Amino acid sequence: MNLIYLDNNATTKVDPQVLDVMLPYLKDEYANPSSIYDFAKQSNHAVKEARGVIKNFFNAENEKEIIFTSCGSESANMAIRGVLNMNKNNRHVITTKVEHPCVLNLYQALEKEGYKVDYIGVNSNGELDLEQLECSINDDTAIVSIMYANNETGVIFPIEKISEIIKSKNKETKFFVDAVQVAGKIPIDVQAMGADLVGISGHKFHAPKGIGALYVNSKTILKPLIIGGHQERGRRAGTENVPYIVGMAKAAELAVDQLKFENTEVKRLRDKLESNILKNVYNARLNASIVNRVPNTTNIGFEYIEGELILLHLSDLGICASSGSACTSGSLEPSHVLRAMNVPFTAIHGSIRFSLSRYTTEQEIDYVCEKMPSIIDKLTNLSPFQDELAALKRLKN
Ligand code: PLP
Repeated sequence: MNLIYLDNNATTKVDPQVLDVMLPYLKDEYANPSSIYDFAKQSNHAVKEARGVIKNFFNAENEKEIIFTSCGSESANMAIRGVLNMNKNNRHVITTKVEHPCVLNLYQALEKEGYKVDYIGVNSNGELDLEQLECSINDDTAIVSIMYANNETGVIFPIEKISEIIKSKNKETKFFVDAVQVAGKIPIDVQAMGADLVGISGHKFHAPKGIGALYVNSKTILKPLIIGGHQERGRRAGTENVPYIVGMAKAAELAVDQLKFENTEVKRLRDKLESNILKNVYNARLNASIVNRVPNTTNIGFEYIEGELILLHLSDLGICASSGSACTSGSLEPSHVLRAMNVPFTAIHGSIRFSLSRYTTEQEIDYVCEKMPSIIDKLTNLSPFQDELAALKRLKN
């Protein structure tokens, strides 16, 4: 059975070219880049070069604005905690209701520590309530954290407009953007975005897990989370992860080369999958339609059935996708993102995310399109909501 991997927002396959550039630093060039002997020159040079590549990937002004981290979660924590620990006077912080848990759970922790937190809502298409944002910013607002694109729906937030709103209300407020789900999908330009801090994670764009980066503009001073040596200009101690840094830089170069393909071919396949399912499955509804989305993601709700059952049937066919639900302590918690969008409870439990990549083929998408109607048909026949399903079918026909 061939694997059909449509869960690229969770993680991606390492590009073979990325692995190739990493191997020398895992085998022979293992020197600590801070050492002064000749043997360390190559690893030192490799980290410098990689920093330049990541600087260009962000369109940052200066290499000094780049900090290597271990993942997207670390980038977010370093940015938000780093800013707040430098500024103990302002105790108001803002984020959205649809952030990744690495931001949302951190904000909940901040709330317990006495910070006043505003969570900005979204409409049924997943679009951010910019008026609520504008009204929430005040003289006490230390930081606003807003993702560039949502990991579950792919909805892109208007970051430039958001930074204009923030800076027009309070010039001192710092703006962190979690750009983890846009890296490799749309260009990242920190200068145009007007963000002070921007985080990415290598494993979302075909580098391995365990490497990320944080852009911090030269006007923003961070209190480090990890104290120790002088690495990363004293902002993150720990010997540099040379092979992974080199690998992420290669992945970033490849991502830039592939941007056009991502926005034409990957998007075409995503649209084909989406329209096919919506046409052939009467109880399917698109979560977050008619809005600006990253080209690889679709989130479809199947009414009156359980998403986990769909995933298990897909898995039996070698197809990997994901649902927004998280199984917590025996109860099935519906996705906080879909809840914030007011997706009806009849569809929220049956929502599935498909996320494609440049490795996704037409044959794979055709196979999924062929199999989905019969999987859903089987599950709807088992659903206890037969009357509701019959009514839905009449409505659609
Ligand atoms: N932010 C977003 C939007 C994500 O989708 C993810 C991971 O899914 C993260 C942050 C966390 O990234 P990492 O897994 O590298 O910590």
